Amino acid sequence: MKVKKGDNILVITGKDKGKTGKVLRALPKERKVLIEGVNMKVHNIRPKKQGEKGQIVKVPAPIFTSNVKVICSKCGKAVRVGYKIEGDKKDRICKKCGQST
Ligand SMILES: [Zn+2]
Repeated sequence: MKVKKGDNILVITGKDKGKTGKVLRALPKERKVLIEGVNMKVHNIRPKKQGEKGQIVKVPAPIFTSNVKVICSKCGKAVRVGYKIEGDKKDRICKKCGQST
């Protein structure tokens, strides 16, 4: 997974194309990420007690990491990231500016 929690991303495809947001959670097994404000789904909450009103809330649903690009914290552009391995250290780097991100 090249996208991790706390990353800022840009959505590059789908109905939320062009939106940016912060990764709330990474789901490596599904190769998906949950992003703040992206792929919002309407959720109906049923009333718990009689006489109470139900609620409609919007919650983000996970989307595939292939639909997003990481926004580099150094150059601020939506980029492809790679890894640089030095000894036993693995650094994620921006392919545009070459800085670790
Ligand atoms: Zn960069």
